[in-house]
Amino acid sequence: MLRIISTLSRRIERQVGPNSAVALLIAAAIGAVCFTVMAGALVYGNTRSLISSGEWVQHTQEVLASLQRVSLLTERIEYRSRLYTLTGNEEQLTRARASANQLETTLVHLKVLVADSDYQTRNLQILVSNAQYFEQALNNFTVKSELSAIQLQQNQQAIGLMTDHEQSLLQERSKGSQQSSFTSISAEVAFVGVSLISLVVLFGLLLRDAVRRQTISKQTALTNERLARTVNELEDRAHESELLTSARDELQLCVEVHQVYESAANSFSRLLLGTSGSLCMINNSRQLVEVVSSWQGSSGESAVEDFHPPDSCCGLRSGQPRWRQPGVSEIHCTHFSSEAPDRYLCKPIVAHGNTLGMLYVQCASEAVLKAVNLRTDGLRQLVQLTGMAIATLNLRTKLENQSIRDSLTGLFNRHFMQISLERELSRAARRKQTLAVFMLDLDHFKKFNDTFGHAAGDTVLKAVAEIFRANIRAEDIACRYGGEEFTIILPDVTPAIALERAESIRRSVANVRLPLDREVYSEFSISIGVALYPNDGETSDLLLRRADMALYRAKRAGRNQVSQFEAVTMAT
Ligand code: GH3
Ligand code: MG
Ligand code: MG
Repeated sequence: MLRIISTLSRRIERQVGPNSAVALLIAAAIGAVCFTVMAGALVYGNTRSLISSGEWVQHTQEVLASLQRVSLLTERIEYRSRLYTLTGNEEQLTRARASANQLETTLVHLKVLVADSDYQTRNLQILVSNAQYFEQALNNFTVKSELSAIQLQQNQQAIGLMTDHEQSLLQERSKGSQQSSFTSISAEVAFVGVSLISLVVLFGLLLRDAVRRQTISKQTALTNERLARTVNELEDRAHESELLTSARDELQLCVEVHQVYESAANSFSRLLLGTSGSLCMINNSRQLVEVVSSWQGSSGESAVEDFHPPDSCCGLRSGQPRWRQPGVSEIHCTHFSSEAPDRYLCKPIVAHGNTLGMLYVQCASEAVLKAVNLRTDGLRQLVQLTGMAIATLNLRTKLENQSIRDSLTGLFNRHFMQISLERELSRAARRKQTLAVFMLDLDHFKKFNDTFGHAAGDTVLKAVAEIFRANIRAEDIACRYGGEEFTIILPDVTPAIALERAESIRRSVANVRLPLDREVYSEFSISIGVALYPNDGETSDLLLRRADMALYRAKRAGRNQVSQFEAVTMAT
């Protein structure tokens, strides 16, 4: 039934549209009310007609009863008068007269009852005149008298006619009453039926409407939920993109590679909330992986060891990002300082086709791991950015070194020395500090080259550069001036310390022993000239010239010694 109603209402709605369907529903409700009122009026009319028919039937039955009584009284009058004639019993006569009286009374009542019918009134007239005749006749009645047979017959005939007429009326009225009853029952049945159908239709439509509304509200809730999820995702993406932009900007500001390490660790900690991890870089010899920066979230301290071989990492071995998590992969890397955690990621950092190192991410729980997996794209981009930044800085450092350093010894070149000396002199002038300039020259190096060959000479030059590096401070600048001549600038140094340092270098060079061809150990020495700012000169040219003059003096004095401008310090 509901399906039929639903199909019907859908069809109506399709044909007339949803607004017209509502109008139709209202019209149907109004129609149902009108029909109910009409059916009620019909039932009311029929009931009234039924009551009226009932009254008429009752009336007819009353008339019939009266006629029956008239007939009975007439019969009584007849046989009591006969009994009197036969027996002379006065009591029979008295009773006959009483019956005649009752007959008259009954006829008066009957007259009222049949007053609406001319036919019955005419017949009643006969009965009334006969009753008068009976009364008169009985009043003068003797044992020899006799009631007129014609009158009696006439009486019975009139009673018969009246009874027949009433019977036919009764039949007619019963029929009418039945008709009314039938009409009333039919109307009621129709009313109940139509009301029932209307109710079912209305209920069906309301039910369908309620179901549809419920479906729509469910769909709306679902859509809202989906919308909220999309908004969250978009916000998340926006946040991720913002973070990547700021990470890119930060990385671009870095001028030292260790700044990149710190900045990247910071960005990873912000991108991968709740994780801990480390940035691990492969060293120049590619024999060792070093933890260069770390971050710590709710997943505890990063468990990766500070130094470990590249082979100890499954990610680095495979060259692919590798998740270790229970149920997915049970094999652990071996680069942990303590017990390996349950869930971690090792992602190689690659730039320009070179594997620079790996990113290690540690997750304390499944929830943190899931959150990291949602950031896969951002993580990939940030690792790429970090790799590019490290590679770019490495390249820049390499290029810078190539332009300011001597390729054989790794010391700064002459050009850089001159720029540095100018800078250090102005700083010393500003700070009112003393500065020392050393000019250094290997003794009899030509001879050394001739004896042991140019390659052995190169080895000596590199060894001497190492000795310089070992004997100077971070702020001192050691340069290859040209050939086997060197310059060392020592900012903020007292004359005594400067001479001490020069002496220390000389001694170290004199003591160095290098294994050369045919296991011959060579001995060589260096001469050093020292000039001091501001005492020996205030410009770079003057200071260099005077340091050179001091060197010349040291050479002349026998080499393997330190000489200060206008002062001579003898080698020990
Ligand atoms: P002195 O004690 O007077 O300084 O004698 P010396 O032989 O060192 O003097 P000189 O300046 O005449 O010789 C410098 C030699 O240094 C000449 C050259 O063979 C050598 N030399 C210069 N540059 C290089 C280099 O890059 N490699 C090698 N192996 N030798 C070099
Ligand atoms: Mg020389
Ligand atoms: Mg020399």
